Amino acid sequence: MQTHITHYEAVIDGKLAASVTGGRIEMVCPSDGQIFATVPRCDAADVGRAVVAARRAFDKDGWPATPSVERGRILSRLSSLIRENEDELAALESRDTGKPLRQGRADIVAAARYFEFYGGAADKVTGETLPVQTGFLAMTLREPHGVVGSVVPWNYPAQIMARVAGAALAMGNTLVMKPAEDACLSVVRIAELALEAGLPAGVWNVVTGLGEEAGAALSNHPELDFLTFTGSPEVGTLIQTAAAKNHIGCTLELGGKSPQILFADADLEAALPVVLNAIIQNCGQTCSAGSRLLVEASHLDTVMERLRQSFRALVSGPHDRDLDLGPLINAAQARRVADFAEDAAKAGVPLIAEGTVAPDSSQHGFYVPARVYGPVPLDARLAREEVFGPVLAVIPFRDEAEAVQIANGTEYGLVAGVWTRDSARAMRVARAVRSGQVFVNGYGAGGGVELPFGGFKKSGHGREKGFEALREFSALKTIVVSHG
Ligand code: NAD
Repeated sequence: MQTHITHYEAVIDGKLAASVTGGRIEMVCPSDGQIFATVPRCDAADVGRAVVAARRAFDKDGWPATPSVERGRILSRLSSLIRENEDELAALESRDTGKPLRQGRADIVAAARYFEFYGGAADKVTGETLPVQTGFLAMTLREPHGVVGSVVPWNYPAQIMARVAGAALAMGNTLVMKPAEDACLSVVRIAELALEAGLPAGVWNVVTGLGEEAGAALSNHPELDFLTFTGSPEVGTLIQTAAAKNHIGCTLELGGKSPQILFADADLEAALPVVLNAIIQNCGQTCSAGSRLLVEASHLDTVMERLRQSFRALVSGPHDRDLDLGPLINAAQARRVADFAEDAAKAGVPLIAEGTVAPDSSQHGFYVPARVYGPVPLDARLAREEVFGPVLAVIPFRDEAEAVQIANGTEYGLVAGVWTRDSARAMRVARAVRSGQVFVNGYGAGGGVELPFGGFKKSGHGREKGFEALREFSALKTIVVSHG
C-alpha cells in the first residue's frame, strides 16, 4: 500500500516557507522505513532570512518591549492550542520518532505544560536591590540576550523545542530554531500554532534542514546573541566552538550514563518498575536514561533474577501498536546499538536477558530488543559509554563509598537515582554524586518541567527547564543611581 506523503514547511518571519532552493528532505517513519512527509531542506540563505527576521523582531518590532504579561498570555494561548490539537500532535510525534503513541502523547502534554509554565512565569522575573554606599541606589535587571539560535535533537522534538522556546520567548528573546532532520514535524506544527496564538512575525523561526548545512549555518551565524544545543558531544564541540568564535554564550546538553543506585534496604517493588521504565522509555534514546543500575552485592542475584523476568517480557514494535518499546530512530542508531551488543559478546559480558520484537513488525523498521547485561565489569564499554538504546548495565558494589565512586566514574554527570530506606544515607549519596539532578526513591528520565536540568562534567553546562532557564536565557544588568 502506498503511504500518503504530507508536505510541511519551515516557519520564517511569520509565514510558512519553502527553502530558497526548493530542496526537500524526506521524513521516514522508523516503524516501517516508509517516507510519509517532507520538509524544506533549508540552507545558509534560509537561515540568513530567519536571522534577519528575528533580529528585526527583537530590535525594531519590540518583542522584548512587549509587556511581559502579554508575552506570557501568548505563550499560555499556545499551550491551550497544543492541548486542543493533542490527538493530531501526539500521532505526529509518535510516527515521526517511532515512539509508542502514549509516549508521543506524554511529550505533547509536556510541551503544552512548558508553554503554560513559562507563560505564567514571564511576568515574575525580578531583579534585586543591592546594598551599596549611602547616596546610591543599585539594582539588577534581567534582560533578554537578543536573537537566540537553538539546535534541537530528534529524540524528544516537542519537549526540547518547548523547553527552549518557552523560556527564551518568555524572557523577550527572539528565536531561530533548527530541529533535527530525523524528526521535526511537531516542531514546525507547533511553531505554526504559535502564529495562531498571536506570536508576532519573526519572533520564532523554524528552519528545517540538515545538521551540517542549516545547523552549521545557524550556529556560526555572526548575528546571534546566544546559542543552545542538545545532542551529541561531537556536535556540542562544534556549537561551542562557533559560540566562542562569535563571543556569545551557549548552553550544551550532551547526554549521560546515568546511574541508579539500589541499596539492599530499598523497596524493590517500588524501585524495579521505575528502573525498567528509565531505560526503555523512548527506546533508551533519552539523554537522562537510567542506563547503569548499581546494585548492592548482597542483593545482586535477587535483582538480576527479577530483571531477567521483566526484560524477557518486553516487546518492541510499531509506534501505533503502543507496545513496551518502539523502534530506534534510524538505521545508524540501530547499527550503533548492535555494535555495543557485538562488543559485549566479544568481551564476554554476560547477557542476563533480552526482550523480543513483535513478529509482525515491518522488516524495514529499526527494531532492537531491550537487553540487560550483568554483572558488567567497570572497564567494559557498556559501563562507561552512552549507548542511546534500550540497554541496561547492572554493576555490583560493596558499600556506600564504592557506590559513589562507581556512580561518579564516567565522563558524564546528568541524572542519578538513589534507592534506600535510610534517609541519612540517601542525603549523603545525593550530595556526593556529581549529577545535575538526583532523585531519591524515584527517577525522572526526561521529565520535570519545573526542575532545573543540565549536566556536570561532559554532560554539558548551563541549565534549562524550571525558573532557572529564565536566568539562562537572560543577561544581568546592574544600574546604579546616585541620589545624593
Ligand atoms: P546530533 O548531535 O548529530 O544531532 C542533534 C542535532 O544537531 C540535529 O538537529 C542535527 O541536525 C544537528 N547537527 C548535526 N551536525 C551539526 C553541525 N555540524 N552543526 C550544527 N548542528 C548540527 O546527534 P545524532 O547524530 O542524531 O545522534 C548521534 C548520537 O548523539 C546519538 O547516538 C546519541 O548518543 C547522541 N544524542 C544525544 C542526545 C541528547 O539528548 N543528549 C540527543 C540526540 C543524540
